[in-house]
Amino acid sequence: MSDAGPVISRLLSLARPYRGWMLLAGGIACLTILASVALMAVAGWFIAAMAIAGVTTGMMNYFLPAAAIRLFAILRTGGRYFERLVSHEATFRLLAELRLWLFRRLAPLAPAGLADRRGADLAAGLQADVETLQHAYLRLGAPIVVALACGVLVVALLTALHPPTGLVVGALLIAAGGVVPGLARRAAERPGSEAVAHRAALRVAVADFLQGGTDLRAAGAVGRRLAALDALGDRFADAQRRAALHGAFAEAAVGLCAWLAVWGAALLAAGAVTAGTLAPPLVPALALAALASFEAVAPLPGAMQRWGEVMAAARRLFALADRPPPIGPFPARSPAPCDDGLDFRAVRLRYAPDGAPALDGLDLTIAPGCHMAILGPSGAGKSSIARLLLRFWDYEGSVTLGGHDLREYTPEDLRRLVGLAAQEAHLFNATLRENLRVAAPEAEEEALRRCLALAGLDEVLGELPEGLDTWIGEGGARLSAGQARRLVIARTLLRAPLILVLDEPTENLDATTSRRLLAALAREREGRTTVLITHDPAAARLFAERIVHMEAGRIAG
Ligand code: ADP
Repeated sequence: MSDAGPVISRLLSLARPYRGWMLLAGGIACLTILASVALMAVAGWFIAAMAIAGVTTGMMNYFLPAAAIRLFAILRTGGRYFERLVSHEATFRLLAELRLWLFRRLAPLAPAGLADRRGADLAAGLQADVETLQHAYLRLGAPIVVALACGVLVVALLTALHPPTGLVVGALLIAAGGVVPGLARRAAERPGSEAVAHRAALRVAVADFLQGGTDLRAAGAVGRRLAALDALGDRFADAQRRAALHGAFAEAAVGLCAWLAVWGAALLAAGAVTAGTLAPPLVPALALAALASFEAVAPLPGAMQRWGEVMAAARRLFALADRPPPIGPFPARSPAPCDDGLDFRAVRLRYAPDGAPALDGLDLTIAPGCHMAILGPSGAGKSSIARLLLRFWDYEGSVTLGGHDLREYTPEDLRRLVGLAAQEAHLFNATLRENLRVAAPEAEEEALRRCLALAGLDEVLGELPEGLDTWIGEGGARLSAGQARRLVIARTLLRAPLILVLDEPTENLDATTSRRLLAALAREREGRTTVLITHDPAAARLFAERIVHMEAGRIAG
């Protein structure tokens, strides 16, 4: 609660580009509520005045009030429609911008700055939190401002007509719009935050369940997982039920205040009529205006119930967006590499500050144009060398590329100079063509086919009826594991990097396909430094001019 001020001012500054839209939506909302109050007041006055005219003189100009009633009715109905339209438009524009803003902040953090967050948890959490922020503007900020503006105006108007009525209605509006929402917020705090936590857990569990469905079935664990999901769902529903109960009480309390205001206004105004200080038709006018004015505060208890949820979501998003980039600072410009040689001196790399080093005093020179294989058991630190070259993780010691320290290059230039076909590379749920063009958006059809052929996928491509437009499914699920690896290699070749790093390219390939792939890559590698990372001595022998062995984070021979 103590840091609500900075959070609110940050939320407001994010909304600044949409100020015009927000003001328009707020203005229309105020107009709608005021039209509603005016409609009730004029209608009450009109019916009473007509009745009095009927039993007394029988004379009255009813054209003007009838026209006013029609106008206010149209304003109220039209206002509601346009207010929804404009406020939703403003919020959706803002949310779209917010997502981009967040993504721009998160992208430089990956992977080292987000290593403590699980993918599913991060994605589900971010999605839920950004959606929750929609309430900050639409259901929290806007109703508070509109209620304040309309409340002040209506009370001023009622006070001008009959001060005691104005005072009583004002006090009851404060009770319904200030005290009740305040109590509702406090009561909803616990079930609200429990519901948010259960919802986040449920989303992660469902994402996990869907992604790991096949393995769960194979392990016969579907029933157990479903029961756990059920239990999570029950807890979520229970927290929601408790929050809804508080909401219902708050709604009832606002209704009670409204009826007290009607009775208060009617009795006070009737007293004034008896004393001869108020015209009789103003009694129903004041009473009905008092009733309608509660439209302004009715959404507040519900809005305040969301307070904790909205603030928690905003705090979480800001905390993530404010994480300092783990790697850097980067220079504005890169030096021109003198050649394509690499040199590692006393390099250490740790994935966690207190974890064991993955690279532990690595010394290695890869001469320009050399075709080297790094051989070693799983966990020796081979892939860490590749990740380090792209500066995905920070390191101690010195690494030079083309005679310049790696830290002197901009990230863009490094990723242009070093092409990595990583083991954990991601394939997008898109076509073959789109997956290849991730690396080179402008690449010609001819270049795409050439790289696929180099990676030994030309035959596969020939068999596909839709060719390059074939959809490869989620994570490349419609390809075999070996085909997926080769697609990643083709994508890397498309960038024509100065230094090519192939991380276990022959994994999941049969011996013949492996040999063919390595032979094709051997032809392609001419004129550039190539590093083959593998645990397979045969592949290393087939491909490389020089083989080094790695063990426990350093070169063993
Ligand atoms: P290799 O490629 O030789 O199999 P890696 O370079 O992938 O080895 O890993 C070296 C060590 O670093 C291993 O002990 C591995 O568990 C650890 N490691 C690799 N990636 C990460 C990571 N993202 N976070 C934490 N530890 C990691």
